[in-house]
Amino acid sequence: MTTRIPETGLDRDSVFAALERARDKDLAWRKGRAYAYVYDGGKEIEEVGKHAYMAFLTENGLDPTVFPSLLQFENDLAAMARAHLGGDESVVGNFTSGGTESIMLAVKAARDHFRATHPEGGGKPELVLPITAHAAFFKAAHYLDVVAVPVEVDPQTFRADPARMEAAITERTMMLVASASSYAHGVVDPVREIAGLAAARGLLCHVDGCIGGFLLPYFRRLGAKVPDFDFRVPGVTSMSMDFHKYALCPKGASIVLYRDKALRRHQIYACSSWTGYTMVNNTIQSSKSGGPMAAAWAVLQFVGDAGYLKIAKELLDTQRALVAGIRAIPGLRLLGDPEMTLVAFTSDELSVFQLCDAMKKRGWYIQPQLAYGASPANVHLSIQPGNVPWTDALLRDLRACVEELRGRPQPDVAPMAQALVAQIEGDPSGQALSAIVAMTRGQGDGPTPDEMADTNHLLDALPRPLQERLLVEYVNEMFVPSTR
Ligand SMILES: *Cc1c(COP(=O)(O)O)cnc(C)c1O
Repeated sequence: MTTRIPETGLDRDSVFAALERARDKDLAWRKGRAYAYVYDGGKEIEEVGKHAYMAFLTENGLDPTVFPSLLQFENDLAAMARAHLGGDESVVGNFTSGGTESIMLAVKAARDHFRATHPEGGGKPELVLPITAHAAFFKAAHYLDVVAVPVEVDPQTFRADPARMEAAITERTMMLVASASSYAHGVVDPVREIAGLAAARGLLCHVDGCIGGFLLPYFRRLGAKVPDFDFRVPGVTSMSMDFHKYALCPKGASIVLYRDKALRRHQIYACSSWTGYTMVNNTIQSSKSGGPMAAAWAVLQFVGDAGYLKIAKELLDTQRALVAGIRAIPGLRLLGDPEMTLVAFTSDELSVFQLCDAMKKRGWYIQPQLAYGASPANVHLSIQPGNVPWTDALLRDLRACVEELRGRPQPDVAPMAQALVAQIEGDPSGQALSAIVAMTRGQGDGPTPDEMADTNHLLDALPRPLQERLLVEYVNEMFVPSTR
């Protein structure tokens, strides 16, 4: 089965058994020892999400006049998000498939707002953003023909630097970006200053609350120091917030919010110049399952404010214990002072990539992040409710791995990196690049996910544009139709 549509259909049991077998090698997140990818609110929340998802799986969000249930859920979610993020009654929003789509739409709205207010042209609009802003903004700029203007951040705090952002503003700037919080370091940018800069010049300002927007208001209520970051800050014109992260909803759930309808208008696309049905889409998707939206609605109703506050308390306690524990391990160095449940640390004495591999062998999944700008290569933890019971065990193993790895020689990748650069740059046809990728993939399945340190060291040593080309080639080789 698999390479052809089976001649006759299989029975349900064999289909489901095959599905289960297929996940053998998947990330074993259920144990709670993965600090990435999955936000596990536990069995009860999972079941509520699944039930609601399945109940609305087949309903189509294409046309809210035909499925008013979905319109209701979407407007309810917008109302809850708006209240959560300090928006007044003029704030509007739309449910999207994820942070990337929310950001893509906010950038599209900004671009079309720029075009509408610059009828004389004015060149390509520019998006000024700290290098810690999520890659989705760079992707949005790439897709939408907007110029991304990345700005270096404070090298100690990893927060956006308003003075540097101000210096990057030109007459073509359309929007400034701030994160609350950033993914990589879990710190909240100085939103008040950045939004102030934007407002003073009549520019837009997007605050990316994809990962922090839902949790940070709870942290503030729990007494944590959380700087102002939402619609209460004058000058913030749009925000994104993911339900499928810390609101613990099934994936495919985020929201983009605008200060008012006048700005949101630029997000919406209508087309009646074709022979089919009149199309008007508020988001990128057109036909879309009602499942994610119904699930998000149901999970928020089920957990409730008190439920989220309780989960937030556990997460905040865990974050504090982990931060303190990491600071106490000689050889590790925390990056910045995270407000969120996202923690990054590095080491001046050992390879953080080897550390990830060593932890993997002990049953942990922690995420390596390559060096960029002021941020050195580091290890990132996204703390989620499933991790709460594991803090002491994680710290024990981290300490043990650090002892094990300290002083171990790190691979000298510079000669190989230089050779690669020379080979690839000497061959504009791109054949050398494909050959290199095919070769690495040809060795078995390439490096096993358990031993990624050498690959990460090599990647880290390459110039960024080359790194990106290699990654594209790699994925281009990865997605090839099955032959088994
Ligand atoms: C996760 C994340 C995004 C992108 O969201 P996806 O849901 O993965 O598309 C954007 N910004 C931040 C800060 C994030 O953490």
